[in-house]
Amino acid sequence: VTHRADVAILGGGPAGAALAILLAEQGCDVALFEQHTFPRFHIGESLIPAVNRTLARLGVLDRLDRHGFPRKHGVQFFNQTTPTRPFYFREATDAALHSTWQVERSEFDAMLLQRAREVGARVHTSARVAVAGDSGGAFAVSVVARQGCERTIDARIFVDASGQHGVLARRCSGWRRMPELHNAAVFAHYRHVDLDPGIDAGSTLVYRLDAAAWLWLIPLPDVVSIGIVAPPARLHDLGKSPEAILAAAIAASPLLAARLRRARRATPVRTARDFTYRAHRDGGRGWLLIGDALGFIDPIYSTGLFLALRSAEQAAPAIVAALASGSAPPDLAGFARDYDIAFDRFLTLVRAFYCDAFHFGAFARQGERRRGLVDMLTGDVSTAAAVDVVQAVASDLEALGRGQHSGPRVARGGPR
Ligand SMILES: Cc1cc2nc3c(=O)[nH]c(=O)nc-3n(C[C@H](O)[C@H](O)[C@H](O)COP(=O)(O)OP(=O)(O)OC[C@H]3O[C@@H](n4cnc5c(N)ncnc54)[C@H](O)[C@@H]3O)c2cc1C
Repeated sequence: VTHRADVAILGGGPAGAALAILLAEQGCDVALFEQHTFPRFHIGESLIPAVNRTLARLGVLDRLDRHGFPRKHGVQFFNQTTPTRPFYFREATDAALHSTWQVERSEFDAMLLQRAREVGARVHTSARVAVAGDSGGAFAVSVVARQGCERTIDARIFVDASGQHGVLARRCSGWRRMPELHNAAVFAHYRHVDLDPGIDAGSTLVYRLDAAAWLWLIPLPDVVSIGIVAPPARLHDLGKSPEAILAAAIAASPLLAARLRRARRATPVRTARDFTYRAHRDGGRGWLLIGDALGFIDPIYSTGLFLALRSAEQAAPAIVAALASGSAPPDLAGFARDYDIAFDRFLTLVRAFYCDAFHFGAFARQGERRRGLVDMLTGDVSTAAAVDVVQAVASDLEALGRGQHSGPRVARGGPR
């Protein structure tokens, strides 16, 4: 038995669901296959405001607004003993981007997938796909449904939206990993965390332990997400179990620990790898990659969903044009050029964050540069101020000898 569609999307996270919506709205014949039934847990809870533009195009912005997720107006960074001045999105160039939301991913992802169904995509859940074939581009895709029956998928275009699983990416492209940005994360949700009043209550807070390690605090409805990001060896030094690692990391950050005096952990402690990587190829004959299957950047600036949705937005017109061209199979290589620009700009800022000789504080005190930084934190990566800032950061890193090809330094005395 065979599933037939013009476009088969493998994976129903935000990237896959967004692409399904955009294609189905244009009348394309789309089938999406997701291994889980939703809602399901996923890490990645903080949006940046530029995502609002895509959510409006997807027809879910009003729904999200009514849902009651905490409003996120900014980001604040803390050193060991001192807070720095918060970055508020209202300082950004575009007034439409002055706030966004912190989301419970189980609900956010289910909302997007539901929208895909509403606009006519055929959404199959509990449907795990497997890809067989060679790296030369000849591959066969099959899907196993919960009942255990296996069917092949016959499509003109296959899209890998399976996140870090990379079901097609691993076969057709492979990833270039950036070993100097090899981190892991340990995280959980907590109740009864002391948050600041007013608009600061929804901000993302970043607590730096040193050049290599930091913690996030992301307010969600009823709970607060807290996690540490650091090189794996550093995490092992903090404790023997995920619970011990997270507790030790919080204790090592006095300003965060103070907010957690009354707090109780509400979920198990989970772990994730968060390598920074980029696929060697974005697409080829009859296939392309979007979302985390295409690339992933360290989560310090909460860019995952922004990049995932942006890649879906760029894939949609490329696929529509390819289907119209009638060529079989259509070549989709090079569709993600705009994505690459955003990816590289954020990567420069990530390298600066992990460079202990680079000081964002001094940098951010200069008026226009501050606005450029806020534009970047907002995801508005192409304003003149944002471009200037990225260029200035890149040349400062170059001068410090930490440009393109060098990695972040671990704080003196810290393990590698
Ligand atoms: C520690 C950490 C913190 C993060 N914090 C943030 C943050 O604050 N903000 C942010 O924007 N991003 C954050 N991210 C990144 C964010 O989680 C991802 O970028 C985002 O989820 C990518 O969306 P996606 O749709 O590409 O992949 P996913 O959301 O991973 O979706 C992929 C889907 O494919 C399905 N799938 C996989 N394999 C198969 C298969 N064989 N068959 C069928 N289905 C399959 C999966 O079940 C899943 O539902 C963080 C990431 C990490 C690791």
